[in-house]
Amino acid sequence: MIRVAVTGAAGRVGMEVLRTVGAEDDMEVVAAIDPRAAGAKFVDSHGDQVPYMPDLAAALAETRPEVLVDFTHPTQVEGNVRTALAAGLDCVVGTTGVTLERYRELAEAAPPGTALFVAPNFAIGAVLMMKFAKEAARYMPTAEVVELHHDKKADAPSGTAMRTAQLIAESRSAAPTVPGKDTEVAGGARGAFVEGVPVHSVRLPGLVAHQEVLFGGQGQTLSIRHDSIDRSSFMPGVLLAVRKVGALSGLVVGLENLLED
Ligand code: NAP
Repeated sequence: MIRVAVTGAAGRVGMEVLRTVGAEDDMEVVAAIDPRAAGAKFVDSHGDQVPYMPDLAAALAETRPEVLVDFTHPTQVEGNVRTALAAGLDCVVGTTGVTLERYRELAEAAPPGTALFVAPNFAIGAVLMMKFAKEAARYMPTAEVVELHHDKKADAPSGTAMRTAQLIAESRSAAPTVPGKDTEVAGGARGAFVEGVPVHSVRLPGLVAHQEVLFGGQGQTLSIRHDSIDRSSFMPGVLLAVRKVGALSGLVVGLENLLED
């Protein structure tokens, strides 16, 4: 049994993580940490009760988990990961809005043998979208990203859009001139520039997590689109990471690194 602690356990994704981990036979939720729900209880599908706790350090000392899963907030995740790594846990992080440089620093300061696994997107379809976008950029270097999320999202652009732009920039041999930046009538109309790739963020109630990568070439366009229509889309990736993080060490970024060829 893998003993799992979840931070952000009362959040939109965290609640889904509790339900999903709690239903597996080879792992169990031993700590649900979220100040918002302190005093309440999570009951897993086996009928086991786990009280929500407000404080991570106290929860770790009391419940001795092996893996932390964090879906919290860009302002909270670094502290949570630092606490968990220092206590010898491996970490699986989905929280976005923190630079990879910061995660690298956290992993470097961690005790030897611990692992920090970070995925900007745990949905397999989104991982494929990024892979296909990277491939397309070799042949069609002119690209823009449109990401669309629910209106409560804490960061813009999304972690997936940031990663997609990095992959496109790595893949193309030269950054094409982006037309139209100096023609903006309203500031920001041409998007934010991430590694030279225009990225446009849409925030609307009703959305979950969506992204379209558009490529333009002579007389043609190519669109690669992914839609998470439900947060359950992230769960197979989270389970895979919980099962595999114990065999990793240091910082590993991206679900693609855990998939079999
Ligand atoms: P959410 O609904 O706001 O949930 C976050 C929860 O964390 C809230 O209940 C919040 O409580 C709680 N929290 C805040 N500080 C905490 C702390 N120090 N310790 C424990 N819990 C704490 O957000 P969400 O939609 O679930 O998203 C969470 C993060 O995951 C975001 O960064 C989002 O971008 C990311 N995400 C990643 C993926 C992926 O595949 N990588 C997919 C979806 C979302 P309060 O509201 O009281 O602060």
